[in-house]
Amino acid sequence: MKKVVVLGAGYAGLQTVHKLQKKVKGKAEIILVDKDDYHYETTELHEVASGTQPALKITYPIADIIDPAVTKFIQDEVVKLDATKKQVQLKQHGMLDYDYCVLALGFVSETFGIKGAKENALEMTNIKQSLAIYDHILASMKKYKETKDKRYLQLVVCGAGFTGIELAGALAEGRPEYAKVAGVAPSEVKITVVEAATRLLPMFSEKLADYGVKLVESLDVELLCGAKISEVAPGEVVYEKDDQTNSLKAETIIWTTGVSGSPVVGESNLQERRGRVVVTDNLTDPNFDDLYILGDVAAVMDKESGRPYPTTAQIATEMAVYAAKDLESQINGNGHLSTPFVYKSKGTVASVGNTHGFGVIGKLEIKGYPASMMKKMIMNKSLFEIGGFKEFIAKGRFDLYH
Ligand code: FAD
Repeated sequence: MKKVVVLGAGYAGLQTVHKLQKKVKGKAEIILVDKDDYHYETTELHEVASGTQPALKITYPIADIIDPAVTKFIQDEVVKLDATKKQVQLKQHGMLDYDYCVLALGFVSETFGIKGAKENALEMTNIKQSLAIYDHILASMKKYKETKDKRYLQLVVCGAGFTGIELAGALAEGRPEYAKVAGVAPSEVKITVVEAATRLLPMFSEKLADYGVKLVESLDVELLCGAKISEVAPGEVVYEKDDQTNSLKAETIIWTTGVSGSPVVGESNLQERRGRVVVTDNLTDPNFDDLYILGDVAAVMDKESGRPYPTTAQIATEMAVYAAKDLESQINGNGHLSTPFVYKSKGTVASVGNTHGFGVIGKLEIKGYPASMMKKMIMNKSLFEIGGFKEFIAKGRFDLYH
């Protein structure tokens, strides 16, 4: 019996287990490790952070997916791995040996060394953090009612990338609820996005990005572009714009300027940059043939552009499908697949609140309500593919028409 250890039950890890366990019964045992006993749809974290969706809607138990005849789940935190000794160190459960390992521990927030960002801004990289943001917003609104200090009504999103824009849209949707708690008119709750770049959303054409920006602004969100954050102090974002230092006072400051791969990658002494390893054509580590690196901890090179593909749930899921097939081939004694992993993006859609969005499907640019519908259908597909019919029915988004 071969032993396959899968680290992380996100898109990449859970899809690998889901596909592999059907193929290797009696030939391999799979051990899946995650610090939580549930899977969460990372692509919808902004909706939990804004309170526009409950956490339960975007999570489901890992136990629902695993086949206990093949797969054992361990709830624990991965500390590091030793790829030479083929061992994984867990915080509570000690060492785990493996024949094959799948490293799929996802991303963490990247602060680019900006002073005070780590200490004074709220991160949104998992369910617990997203729930903490929502609690923080409501607590701030209550504080406003007591103090009448306008800082409590100001929400600041740092970074207008894909995640920042989706979050700003969701916060605008949550604004009537926040205003009710504060006892003010919705227009008094201010949402500001601070961004260093002047050309936003470079993954889209200029025209489509412009549409996205105007859509967000039409929801009474202030977009401060060309504003380079130099420091986050308690209750204050300091930024440079037009050669001047400015400051924005806010009780709620949310950090979405970018992500890097899990710090476990660096702790494990793998050849990495910002927590990512440039993987081989078979999605393994360049130095360790039995170690697969999938999802946000991997850099898959786009041979046309010479740059890595952006890390997304879409590529993470496709990598997992390939890795499960490659692992099956290895377990059957046939070595790696002879065909390399090839990726072709199907497109990207950003949601702006529950009923609007914009993006690209294939070569087609879509906007407004059809884009929002498409986004929900993409989320439903992901739920169905990993969670199966049960999770699709329980957690799917069927509010497609507005
Ligand atoms: P994850 O899905 O993050 O899973 C990592 C898993 O590892 C988690 O279950 C975590 O609990 C576990 N874990 C982490 N560290 C440890 C540890 N030390 N020990 C044990 N367990 C650990 N992508 C798209 O394709 N389309 C979108 O529309 C889109 N929208 C997004 C919106 C938001 C708000 C965000 C934040 C991201 C979005 N993305 C989108 C990006 C996408 O979510 C990520 O690329 C994707 O989640 C990466 O999948 P993964 O499997 O590598 O990691």
